[in-house]
Amino acid sequence: MNPVKEMALTRHILETAAGHPDRVAFCVGEKRLSYRELVKGARHQAEVLSAWRRYHPPIIPGDQGLRLPVLLLGCLLSRRPYVVLDPTAPVLRQNQLIQDVEEAGPDLPGLAYLMYTSGSTGRPKGVQISRDNLDFFLAATRSLPLEPPGEAVWLTHAPWSFDLSVLPLWQGLSRGDRVVWLDTTRGVDFPRLAAEMAQSGATCWVSTPSFARLWLRDPTFREALLPRLSLFFFCGEVLEPALVLALAWRFPRARVVNAYGPTEATVAATLTEIPRELAEAGGPLPVGRPLPGISLAVLGENGEPLPPGQEGEIAIGGPGVGLGYRGLPELTRQRFFTRDGIPWYRTGDMGRLEEGQLWFHGRRDLQVKHRGCRIELADIEQNLLALPQVAEAVAVLLEDRLLALVVPAAGAAPTPPELIRGLRRRLPHYLLPERVLPVTALPLTPQGKLDRREASRMAAEKMKGGRCDG
Ligand code: AMP
Repeated sequence: MNPVKEMALTRHILETAAGHPDRVAFCVGEKRLSYRELVKGARHQAEVLSAWRRYHPPIIPGDQGLRLPVLLLGCLLSRRPYVVLDPTAPVLRQNQLIQDVEEAGPDLPGLAYLMYTSGSTGRPKGVQISRDNLDFFLAATRSLPLEPPGEAVWLTHAPWSFDLSVLPLWQGLSRGDRVVWLDTTRGVDFPRLAAEMAQSGATCWVSTPSFARLWLRDPTFREALLPRLSLFFFCGEVLEPALVLALAWRFPRARVVNAYGPTEATVAATLTEIPRELAEAGGPLPVGRPLPGISLAVLGENGEPLPPGQEGEIAIGGPGVGLGYRGLPELTRQRFFTRDGIPWYRTGDMGRLEEGQLWFHGRRDLQVKHRGCRIELADIEQNLLALPQVAEAVAVLLEDRLLALVVPAAGAAPTPPELIRGLRRRLPHYLLPERVLPVTALPLTPQGKLDRREASRMAAEKMKGGRCDG
């Protein structure tokens, strides 16, 4: 008997399949999967997995279309964690993930999934989320302002290897709703996706703000396209008031929720509704109040909790906090800790708490968000340094542009396209700098450390066509 207990999530899905077997669970393009088909396929998958002797989690490529929820549910039913592989990542990056999954030792008991994010060592790092974390998160977000269970239609493009996808997929299926996935694996094809949106009957949109901003370029993206839409759920990066106002104009009846949280604390730890009047005031928007059961603290330099109103590092505590990084005990110790019997995660985000509401002030390290994707600048730098033509490298995010400055190795004179080609073999598309700019030396501080501020300035100059190869 497997000691890992049943999840509320899987119980709810099985109940819907028993009570409403023909209800549509999941759609991609023209294809539809009913709850009966979902559970039948998942049970079969679970049987196959129970006979599987290997101890590491099954690795599921994210381009499985309708099969994807079947395979993931099969893992959960067989009490095995899953990992979704980014199908667009280059082979080398996929192999790093596979190697990590296979070799980092046996799984912790009770894991639901492993989610890989950009790592500062130049390799992706696996966040371990337990079945209890996932059940907790779903219970804590159950009170989102949605249609009654069974009547909502979730629309998302979030790739399955990103943790934002966890909300629409598992909350949607747990409530007996329909989940519609827009496949953007091979780019954003506006006419095709708009046609799919029009057919979806979607009531709830889940994306990063960047994806919605992209759609604002399309004049047909308005209420007439998604007449039932009642909620935009955003998470993952700063939500700008201008986006809220543009959406209020195009979708006057839809509400907007801003949620905040890292993969390490199971998708989101805080959320708040953003009324139009708040966006009209024009200032930064709050990221919300903690989900029920979540504790928040703002920590000072020495890890001491700061009083409300003061800026410090945001820490998240409670049952959403995951089980650390797979095979990385030192990094896990740096970021995860226990206080008063509660698990906590130091986010690396700066912020302040005011009257229970959290405000995000940016990062304290080299992690950035670019077009909704989480990027460690050091990940790009390490992969540039792995190219034989490169002696030194620094990556910078200049407003919306991801750039890199590179000092060629002695005797090498690589062209920027050559360097990008080299990187393409190592990094997924969202980690690729838009331009790689050769320089003769990187700027240093008086203490002899890399001067990142000056590097950003140099990159800006170079982009303007100025000369700064010094
Ligand atoms: P990820 O693990 O990809 O979800 O990225 C987590 C990081 O995204 C957080 O640590 C924040 O830096 C950033 N983030 C998430 N949600 C928000 C938000 N609503 N506003 C600003 N930044 C956010």
